Amino acid sequence: MSDDPLHQEIILDHYRNPRGRGLRAPFEVQVHHVNPTCGDEIDLRVHLTKDADGRVVVSDVSYDGQGCSISQASASVLAEQIVGLSLGDALMVQQGFSELMQSRGTLTPDEDLLGDGIAFAGVSKYPARVKCALLAWMAWRDAVSQAVDSVVEGKTSE
Ligand code: ZN
Repeated sequence: MSDDPLHQEIILDHYRNPRGRGLRAPFEVQVHHVNPTCGDEIDLRVHLTKDADGRVVVSDVSYDGQGCSISQASASVLAEQIVGLSLGDALMVQQGFSELMQSRGTLTPDEDLLGDGIAFAGVSKYPARVKCALLAWMAWRDAVSQAVDSVVEGKTSE
């Protein structure tokens, strides 16, 4: 998976001790995404709120899933990195992670932006594993694009 032993250690730590795992309420949208080439699956919920200035904030990302260590660790990193950010900042993290995973090992990852997401830099050299790493992030992007409409209309499932 990753060439760097420290990066491997970070990925395994997220796999064994996933942050924020489990499906929670309230939420606006739940999505189910699969990566058929590896057999990874994820159910992911997003909860968006508006702060006092009217900015949309990612109040929660909750998930449950099964699959390889890369797919599950990546969901944990996503939750750790994105919960509590404004939607604009969260989308920048998602964009940065996507670019890293499509770089085939040529990008030096930005730790300030991606946190433990930098551990997946080596994974980007293995096209078959890139889909594993991106599964949760694609699911989150899909859920958020649906949830933005709900939060504007005030439809949250309790
Ligand atoms: Zn996988």
